[in-house]
Formats: sequence, C-alpha cells, structure tokens
Amino acid sequence: MPVMTANPSKDLEHDLRTLALFINLYCRYKHADAPRGPVQMKTHDVDAIARKPVVLCEECTKLLVHAFTKRTHCPMHPKPACKHCPSHCYHPTYRAKIRQVMKFSGKKMLLGGRLDYLFHLLF
Ligand SMILES: [Zn+2]
Repeated sequence: MPVMTANPSKDLEHDLRTLALFINLYCRYKHADAPRGPVQMKTHDVDAIARKPVVLCEECTKLLVHAFTKRTHCPMHPKPACKHCPSHCYHPTYRAKIRQVMKFSGKKMLLGGRLDYLFHLLF
C-alpha cells in the first residue's frame, strides 16, 4: 500500500511524477503518430520529476503544463483527491482530458501492477 505522507512537498512531487508518467504513457499509446518531443517548462524540470524522459505531442504537452501548474498552486493541505475537492480548478476541457488519461493509463498500470500510482489522482 502507498504510504501517506504528511509532508506537502513530498506529496506534490509524488503527484507531479504521477501526472507526468500517466500523460506520457497515454500519449505514447494514443498519439504514436503525432509529432512528439521533450517537454520543456520554465517552472519545472519535467524529466527530473518523472525520473525518465517525458516525450509528448503538442496537445498532451499543454495538458501536462496545465496540470503541473494547477497542482503546484493547489491551496489544499492536505490535498483531497481531486474528485472530492470542493474547488474544481481545472479548465473543463483539460479536466475532461485528464480524466481520460487517468482512466486509460490507470488501467494499463493496474495491469502492470503499478497500483501505487492509482492513489490520490483518480479524478
Ligand atoms: Zn499526446
């Protein structure tokens, strides 16, 4: 079982890593034919956070930047699961997209035994 930590910066790092890995996996399967490249953010070292190279299409890059920005500025401590949060901070378009990503990649990771990532971010 995943360990719940009381340290907000650890939680943040964990959530950002989960987001990056989920979106990366989704894009690799769903947008294999789209032009994809490394993700550059001024505010975050995405590859370092994911602990692997994150390569995304343009659409998924925008989603990742939106998700990283929202998560980093989340005012909730401790942060509730997004689906239980009273403040839906995502733009509706991105919210629909991230739910798709979570569903797709969550299923893949479940099959791969990566249950630890399913925690916290189920939208
Ligand atoms: Zn993509």
